[in-house]
Amino acid sequence: MDSVEKRPFYLYSKPQINRNFEAYNQALEGLSSIIGYAIKANNNLKILEHLRQLGCGAVLVSGNELRLALHAGFDLTKCVFNGNGKLLEDLVLAAKAGVFVNVDSEFDLENIVSAARIAGKKVNVLLRINPNVDPQVHPYVATGNKNSKFGIRNEKLQWFLDAVKAHPDELKLVGAHCHLGSTITKVDIFRDAAVDYYHAGAILPTPRDLIDTVRELVLSRNLKLIIEPGRSLMAYTCSLVNCATGVKTNGTKNFVVIDGSDAELIRPSLYGAYQHIELVSPAPPDAETSTFDVVGPVCE
Ligand SMILES: *Cc1c(COP(=O)(O)O)cnc(C)c1O
Repeated sequence: MDSVEKRPFYLYSKPQINRNFEAYNQALEGLSSIIGYAIKANNNLKILEHLRQLGCGAVLVSGNELRLALHAGFDLTKCVFNGNGKLLEDLVLAAKAGVFVNVDSEFDLENIVSAARIAGKKVNVLLRINPNVDPQVHPYVATGNKNSKFGIRNEKLQWFLDAVKAHPDELKLVGAHCHLGSTITKVDIFRDAAVDYYHAGAILPTPRDLIDTVRELVLSRNLKLIIEPGRSLMAYTCSLVNCATGVKTNGTKNFVVIDGSDAELIRPSLYGAYQHIELVSPAPPDAETSTFDVVGPVCE
């Protein structure tokens, strides 16, 4: 590793990205579908361009992500603009670009109507529904339960359907959207959410497990399924490569100080998540064993 000047760095496996994409692609065979990559999982431009070449669309949660998707050349008919705080100027850009736009609230609907008028284009909208399903994940990443800041609650659905209908020149309703949460391991919840809306240890599930929960529903109603994988496409494709800068002790604890820190990798500390650490070069067979905290140089 001595020849590597800039550390730490993320090292990606292109074959693994391809395999992850292919697993979704094969699971969706026989269905009319779009794989929309949720850009916030990793917005590295080279990766975006690669996923675009594989055939992914893009799921966007900010105006700048929309600009990035335009820059990366995504097929705009496969892009969805999400969010509870979309700005008017960003919605105008979305309307001009012709991406799908999710309606999240009353004020959001008003802004989308204004954006359509300013852009002089009708916007294809989906209603982002809050299905009130508990995804059984870390509370920070649950987005589809009753207390969530996202989406439209059940009792308001008819109001929104009427409101969209009242703007035939600006809006075209093309679907429903919901996002239950991230890091989901129990796929049955997707059937629970779908059944509600399509009629009006960690063993990780595969893309096929996930798609199979809704396959029959989607087929029987002749729907197009848009799925929005983010981390499941990207998370297991890269390593953060560090060098050990030195070893120290405070008398009770031993530390290996590495060059990476919270500045490069905040999630494990934020979510109390498991962080796998491996040596690049194996330890010599006669090495002693002892316990260390692996720490970075910043104060967090
Ligand atoms: C973040 C996000 C996703 C993807 O979440 P992952 O856990 O990374 O798969 C999908 N849809 C929406 C609307 C999101 O905000």
